[in-house]
Amino acid sequence: MKKITKYDLEKYSRQIIIDKIGISGQQKIYKSSVAIVGCGGLGTSVAQYLSMSGVGNIILIDDDEIILSNLNRQTLFTEKDIGNNKSKILAFKIKKIHPTAKIEYEENKLTSKNMDKIIKKFSIIIDCTDNFESRLLINKYCHNNKKILISAALQNFDIQAFIFASWKGKDNPCYKCIFPNVNKNESISCDEMGITAPVAGLGGLIQANLAINYILNFDVNFKELILLDCTSLNTRKIILKKNLKCKICRK
Ligand SMILES: [Zn+2]
Repeated sequence: MKKITKYDLEKYSRQIIIDKIGISGQQKIYKSSVAIVGCGGLGTSVAQYLSMSGVGNIILIDDDEIILSNLNRQTLFTEKDIGNNKSKILAFKIKKIHPTAKIEYEENKLTSKNMDKIIKKFSIIIDCTDNFESRLLINKYCHNNKKILISAALQNFDIQAFIFASWKGKDNPCYKCIFPNVNKNESISCDEMGITAPVAGLGGLIQANLAINYILNFDVNFKELILLDCTSLNTRKIILKKNLKCKICRK
């Protein structure tokens, strides 16, 4: 396990002084490994906050280039970055936040063919994509390979977030249990729906927070949907049930 240095003690002092974290919690955060799929509004926020928290192994995956209309919400990107690949620029930016971390990036889109090679060594997969095709693919991979999946979706002022471990415990649902009939070609992109900076940022923050809760062994509920209405700031939770006929996770 990584030795906590004097530098770490100072940098992460405000986390380490929390009883539920301490030095051992900070070490758990450092040795955790997270794959962030999609470097848009959700992904940039997740990457920023997990690297500030001290996560030591991160891969960023996105085949898109940065465009001007991304800049209202995709934190860490600036006008100078337009035209460059999102994962590459984000990797460069978060390396400045956490220089001793191992930060990798992948400029290709995840497919069923390349997925195993790219994300195999990461234990937490954070789905920050904006289409059902990728979400269903990632869900299947996470179930079959016993990965923790943290997913979120944004629509105007509404945020949905989940943490799944469908392979762990017989009642835990997977993403497909909740959305059994989605069409893989259906788009849920911010480009078509509209989104504000705080809503995108909050969605990513909820995902980052769920990841930290899991890393620190807090009591994580793998059977709930978290809903946040950003106009009223009301939060609701819905208990999710495993679909016993689910094509992905039924026994
Ligand atoms: Zn399922």
